[in-house]
Amino acid sequence: MDDRLKEEIGAWLEFFRELGIEDFYRREPGTFSKLQMRTPSAEPAPQGFSFNTSPAPVQNLKSKPQNLSLFEAPAVVRGHETLDEVRADLGDCQRCKLSKGRKHIVFGQGHPHAELVLIGEGPGADEDEQGLPFVGRAGKLLNRMLESVGIKREDVYICNVVKCRPAGNRTPEKDEVDACSPFLFRQLEAIQPRLICCLGAPAARTVLGLKEGMLKIRGRFYDYGGAKAVATVHPAYVLRNPREEKILREDFEKIREFLKQS
Ligand code: URA
Repeated sequence: MDDRLKEEIGAWLEFFRELGIEDFYRREPGTFSKLQMRTPSAEPAPQGFSFNTSPAPVQNLKSKPQNLSLFEAPAVVRGHETLDEVRADLGDCQRCKLSKGRKHIVFGQGHPHAELVLIGEGPGADEDEQGLPFVGRAGKLLNRMLESVGIKREDVYICNVVKCRPAGNRTPEKDEVDACSPFLFRQLEAIQPRLICCLGAPAARTVLGLKEGMLKIRGRFYDYGGAKAVATVHPAYVLRNPREEKILREDFEKIREFLKQS
């Protein structure tokens, strides 16, 4: 590499650092999910999501390097997309076959910078009707769990692995998850939560890449980008197996303890 090129690249990197951009990655057409981890830990390496933990400083920027021709812009600027922008890009999504049967896209609901993001599997009939996540029976149980540990629903962000209802509430298929999960990862990047809670195995598989049974993986905290992630049983499972409510409660108590730490 010649000296002028090195100098040019150095100047651009310096400029990007001042903007708060620390990493770049290549955006494959149509997928956002295979981002590299920044802080892999001893825990099973999660896949699919990493985010910039330092917000971009907006003041005291040096001027953009002049007369430099190398790049027009970084491929992707991490941590700079808002939820509204992700929603706008999703549009009237027809990326998978779930779009054919839906009434409403269920994008997600809650605080745009929530400390806690809860991720379910996919909208059910009530959610499809209202366009909001976890508003049916499973949602009522989730509300009760949140309330029991002193967390307000409006302070968290709730979304799903897929944003359109799978017919008959079946588990979303791989092609559907592949089409939809990039938007989930972008939501996580926009929110920058401290903790992500996967409700049920499909969320744990999609977000954390964990394939073991829920009873093995639940209640443990995994490093996940700059955040932590935990998995627990899905509230719908508890509705079918009421004796398992204690598991959900126990894991929500762990979540409360985690969030109490500064
Ligand atoms: N079950 C889910 O996984 N998500 C919802 O939004 C509702 C029920």
